[in-house]
Amino acid sequence: MAGKITFTMIKPDAVKSQYIGAILDKIVASGFKIVAMKLTQLSAAKAGEFYEVHKERPFYGELVEFMSSGPIVAAVLEKDNAVEDFRTLIGATNPANAAEGTIRKMYAKSMGENAVHGSDSDENALIEAQFHFSGVEMFR
Ligand code: GDP
Repeated sequence: MAGKITFTMIKPDAVKSQYIGAILDKIVASGFKIVAMKLTQLSAAKAGEFYEVHKERPFYGELVEFMSSGPIVAAVLEKDNAVEDFRTLIGATNPANAAEGTIRKMYAKSMGENAVHGSDSDENALIEAQFHFSGVEMFR
């Protein structure tokens, strides 16, 4: 039976550092199935829309600028318990606090430039997947 989905982005810092392959390897080795994927770049407007929930936070401007600064990999991943398991795999927001072996511990530079995004709920996973992909681009 099909598992649940989560949405991820490999952020501009990790793409620039040539970590796409290593990060995707780790994701697949951890049991996630890639059901949609593309290399793309967010406009500042699109990045602002994606992170709208953080609009009032002091780092919003910096976040939008960073997320639109270069190409990203957007992907939809399928697995049982996808959202929670992926959050465990990526580790804490601040790589300094991320557990050993997590993607952020291994590849993130800082709190802002932290290599990967992972949805925080099933509801947001669907919203975020549909933000980037149409139905025919998702192979579930
Ligand atoms: P996440 O769910 O672990 O990605 O963390 P949040 O939802 O709290 O924050 C969303 C994203 O905003 C993070 O992944 C970071 O890229 C960025 N961010 C969070 N806190 C800060 C901060 O203090 N400074 C900067 N520049 N970016 C931040």
